[in-house]
Amino acid sequence: MNLEGKKVLVVGLGKTGEALCHFLLRHKARVKVSEKKKPEELGQRIPFWEQKGVVVEAGNHQQESFTEADLIVPSPGVPWSPELEAAKSKGIKIISEIELASNYLKGKIVGITGSNGKSTTATLTHKILKNGGLQSYLAGNIGTPLISFVKNSKDEHIYVSELSSFQLAYINHFRASISVFLNISPDHLDWHSSFTDYYEAKKKLIFSQKKNDIAILNQDDPLVWKLKNLQELEIFAFSRKREVSKGCFLRGDWIIFSNAKEEKLIKTSVIPLLGIHNQENIMASALVGHILGIPLIKIKDSIQRFQGLEHRLEEVKTVKEINFFNDSKATNVDAASKSIQSFDRKIILILGGRDKGGDFTKLLKPIKEKVSRIILLGEARDKIRDALKNTVPIETASSMKEAVKSGYSRAKPGEVVLLAPACTSFDMFQNFEERGEVFKREVLNLEKELKEKRTT
Ligand code: ADP
Repeated sequence: MNLEGKKVLVVGLGKTGEALCHFLLRHKARVKVSEKKKPEELGQRIPFWEQKGVVVEAGNHQQESFTEADLIVPSPGVPWSPELEAAKSKGIKIISEIELASNYLKGKIVGITGSNGKSTTATLTHKILKNGGLQSYLAGNIGTPLISFVKNSKDEHIYVSELSSFQLAYINHFRASISVFLNISPDHLDWHSSFTDYYEAKKKLIFSQKKNDIAILNQDDPLVWKLKNLQELEIFAFSRKREVSKGCFLRGDWIIFSNAKEEKLIKTSVIPLLGIHNQENIMASALVGHILGIPLIKIKDSIQRFQGLEHRLEEVKTVKEINFFNDSKATNVDAASKSIQSFDRKIILILGGRDKGGDFTKLLKPIKEKVSRIILLGEARDKIRDALKNTVPIETASSMKEAVKSGYSRAKPGEVVLLAPACTSFDMFQNFEERGEVFKREVLNLEKELKEKRTT
């Protein structure tokens, strides 16, 4: 792909947008950025890029910027818009950053997708490969955009890439030599027009692979497992529910590799990561290591050293025998459901935020089994209350502070107060990180207040 002199429009000036600008300028493209955020919100970034020769359009998308471009690269998460539609109908090429990167990148790509668990699995996979002596790099949301690696990429490098449906929606030739498909459940239905559309985007990861590439699929998820026959790929399965002949599975307390022979990898009781869903993430990561020849002992060691990521079922504090957990990243119903199921104790559950098309009735069963009370926050509270009425007592809180205090006062010793909102955070917070930080701060404040009360 020759970019020299081409008019390229980057949509969005976030981390990926800026990485794209650097890349495109190096390839002598004529770069324009269109960003919905107002100029005041972008601050110094406008003069910074303008000085380098990038045209920055902020506060609005101009239709001509789209219809006059030779190529458009939307940043992940940029919603489909009339401007993109107009460009598409004019036949203008729209591709994602990973597609552009893959045209230039040397080395192998391990592509990880799924509705939930991508960041955790990508991070653990990267640690396993690195600990095993391979030249692994972590690319995507939690790492560095793939495009930033192009310049220094080498054939022996491995890029472990977390791939969202937004990125996969705009690929044509992007190819992962090893793909991992963790699970699929409704998510981002505020962005994709339907679940089918979302599934189609995710499936592209597998469809774009070539003969003899490898796919690691979750056998317990019918929509994922269904993909095993679609291409002439080498398939490895992972499962918590049944023994598989080629892949990784759970037998009693053991995670076991199985290929030509069976090998015991690790006992679940010595895994620091909480939660049944993390057993799935671990199996998928371990399989990548296994396929790339990392010795079992090294894989086991990496799993035992991995403490998980912040805001994903993160233990915050025990305040007077009440355990607080922060799973602010549980932004959809399936993640929240897995989160609830990870405990063998009663839970006071903090739920709510901005709905992204979730079916909250899917929480009925885990709530009936594990939850003693629900505290609702945010915009989606009425929809959630409606879906979950006749289960357990439900109350509303107007702030995270109130939710934490109420959770504490309602919980009995030994119980858990869990933030697993099943919604995005954007109604009350900048992002899920801020929501998690505020929750943790309020737990610490509560502890401090209780101590002060005791000493006065
Ligand atoms: P992603 O990058 O796909 O959003 P994360 O690793 O950040 O995934 O985890 C997001 C949320 O999903 C966490 O709150 C976690 O509790 C939940 N989760 C993680 N792995 C899984 C899984 N395999 N299945 C279901 N839920 C999961």
